[in-house]
Amino acid sequence: MFIEFNSTPPQSGWIEVVCGSMFSGKTEELIRRMRRAQIANQSVEIFKPAVDTRYSEDQIVSHNQNSIPSTPVSSSQQILLLASTVDVVGIDEAQFFDMGIVEVVEELANNGVRVIVAGLDMDFSGQPFGPMPALLARAEFVTKVHAICQVCGALANYSYRLSDSQSQLLLGEKEAYEPRCRNCYLDGPDAQRRPQKHRRKNE
Ligand code: ZN
Repeated sequence: MFIEFNSTPPQSGWIEVVCGSMFSGKTEELIRRMRRAQIANQSVEIFKPAVDTRYSEDQIVSHNQNSIPSTPVSSSQQILLLASTVDVVGIDEAQFFDMGIVEVVEELANNGVRVIVAGLDMDFSGQPFGPMPALLARAEFVTKVHAICQVCGALANYSYRLSDSQSQLLLGEKEAYEPRCRNCYLDGPDAQRRPQKHRRKNE
């Protein structure tokens, strides 16, 4: 469980990254931290890439329908313009932003803002996703969350794509992906599923 870091004046900003595979609860963790900041009477703003409009234009939506308002932006630079006066900035689906997001996040933190970034650390082919590696390297605090492997029930670290598309941008509909552990990810379509009655349901 992440416990908020309480800085004493003069307040400085910092960067937190919450990363993991699909269905690992990244967005839920981002929402939890943002809600706690709201409870502490801090001003908060949440941004997400405009490309991620699978459920809602102006709500941040996680897979369990837990939602809070957010602002879709088409480029990382927009965040700087919109976030100048807030205490805590949340960024969801950060893997879909341009590389400029790295400098934007740094500048916000340098100016005293707490920045919480959530995103996929790897794409479906197991490669580091977009700006996430650079954000992870610069963050003061990193939390890696895990899903449950849909084949064997172990801890899942990978987003296995069930379709044949090779586009990195295929968005996260549940039916297109399943979380898998290392072994079952490597086994690909040959992975041996446990009998249905023993399989854990996804969140
Ligand atoms: Zn597995």
